[in-house]
This record gives sequence, structure tokens and C-alpha cells, in this order.
Amino acid sequence: MINLVVVGSLALDTVKTPFGRVKDALGGAATYASYSASFFSKPAIVGVVGKDFPQQHLRLLEQRGVSVEGIKVDGKGKTFRWQGYYEYDMNEAKTVKTELGVFADFKPQLPESYKDAEYVFLANIDPELQLNVLQQVKKPKLTLLDTMNYWINNKRQKLLEVIKSVDVLLLNDGEARQLFETPSLVKAAAAVLKLGPKFIIIKKGEHGALLFGDGSHFSAPGYPLENIKDPTGCGDSFAGALIGYLAGKGSTEEKELRKAIIYGSVVASFNAEDFSLERLKRLTAADIEKRYREFERIREF
Ligand code: AMP
Repeated sequence: MINLVVVGSLALDTVKTPFGRVKDALGGAATYASYSASFFSKPAIVGVVGKDFPQQHLRLLEQRGVSVEGIKVDGKGKTFRWQGYYEYDMNEAKTVKTELGVFADFKPQLPESYKDAEYVFLANIDPELQLNVLQQVKKPKLTLLDTMNYWINNKRQKLLEVIKSVDVLLLNDGEARQLFETPSLVKAAAAVLKLGPKFIIIKKGEHGALLFGDGSHFSAPGYPLENIKDPTGCGDSFAGALIGYLAGKGSTEEKELRKAIIYGSVVASFNAEDFSLERLKRLTAADIEKRYREFERIREF
């Protein structure tokens, strides 16, 4: 049974960082998120690719137990492509080019067997499509929403509508300040909770993440990573591992959400150690547990 559905982009990324470059490498928010979730549960992807999307990428996801039945192969166009680069401040991706290709006409359609899923991750896509997906899922236990500054600038009202309909909102610190027009993350978090979500998680790049709930607060540390090569997909790996962990546990409790944030931070920190999904491909459950324990030690005082 499909218990976790991830909706978002599958992409071919061209990325340059101070430590190397890749061309047309496997990427996309739904790719990173579902792969990361697969360490904890059995996710399914809803997305679209063109005929140029290499079969081996779909096989890679299948080998990890990710259901790809919800990925539409659209013969009429090309796969979504993103080109970007990072300078020494690797917290900020600079976009060079975005080629939407088949993603421009993407209308997410959940296969029947996905509609009973209890956990849903709406990765960064048009808020209208995110709303449409929510309408297709019958009785979700936990919905997690991500977005980006483009939608804050261009579809603010629709975005606020989706925010009102989800359980947990993910934003980075810049987006939170921008959306609620305040320099204070505490005020931005309070504004989100007033709209409807039970929790908001504010990501602070390599410096960790903050969780705000009704009357509660948790702060996850950043991992002191020595070898960062490419942070592309860290936000999505974080989200994927987080919701994957919760789906695996069948929980929506804050106690488990706090652990889920640490698992998200663990997988995201590994993801930054290499380009594309290369580090995740070599990742084992034992690696994850070991770094989780390190996080526990960092947190202790
Ligand atoms: P992040 O986790 O924020 O680093 O996400 C990186 C991934 O998002 C890359 O693999 C890109 O292919 C994908 N991406 C970049 N721009 C967009 C966009 N406008 N819509 C959907 N996905 C995108």
C-alpha cells in the first residue's frame, strides 16, 4: 500500500560549485525527496518527464522501492532542466536558466492506489497544482508543504490558500521573512500558525532548522560538515527524510516530528557531500544512524 506521496519536479540539472560541475545530472525536488524518504518508508512519486529522461534514473528509484507509476512520460516535450551555480556561500543557489519543457503543462494526476496515502509532501510547484493534489487525496494524516520565492512573488494569494490547508509548512528563513514582511522569524512563525498549519519548520541552510508549534519551539543544529561539494537538493532531501520517517512510524506527534527533523538534517548533510544523488546512492542505514547519534551529542548540554 502506498502511504507516502511526493509531488514535484523530476529534473536534469546542470550545476557548478567551487568544487566541480555536472551536466544534465539527475535532480528535481521529487527525486531528492522520494529517494531520501525511501530510507524510512515506501514513497510514491507524482511527476512528469520527457522521452529524453534516461530509463536508468527511473530504475534507480524503483530499486529503492519508490513507486514510479505516478510519473508520466510525456512524449511531446523535454524533461524539466535547471541550471545553477553556487559561490563560496553555498546557502544560496543562483539560477542561470530554467527550461520547463513538459513541466509547463504538468497536471498532477494521482493513480487510484495513491489516493489513500496518509502522508503527502507537496514539493515546490505552482500552488494551484498543490491545491489540486490535496483535493485528490482522500484522508491525509499529515501534509507537508514546500515552496519558493517565485511563488511568493507571483502567486501569493493562492500560496496562502494552500498554506491554510496543510499541517506543516516548510520555508527557509528568507522566504519566511519575505512572505510575512517581518525581519522576525518568531513573528513569521506566529503568522503561519494563525493561518492554520499545526507546525512551521524554518530552514536555515547549513545552520540548522527551527520548529514552531502552538506554544512549543525546537531548534535543530546544523551539522559541522567538512566536505561540501554540492548543496543542490538539500532542502528536498531534508523534507523527504523528515516525512519518510514520520510515515514509517505512522506518527504525527511532535515528539516524533522533532526526531524527523534530525533525520532530515542527517540525510541533507550527506546529500551535500557529492553532486546529484551520488552520495545518497552510497548511503546506508548504518551511516544514517551513526550521524543521528552525532547530532544527539552535538545537542547535549
Ligand atoms: P533544493 O532542495 O532547493 O536545492 O532543490 C533543488 C532542486 O529543485 C533541483 O534539483 C532542481 O531541479 C529543482 N528546481 C529548481 N527550480 C525549480 C522550479 N522552479 N520548480 C521545481 N523544481 C525546481
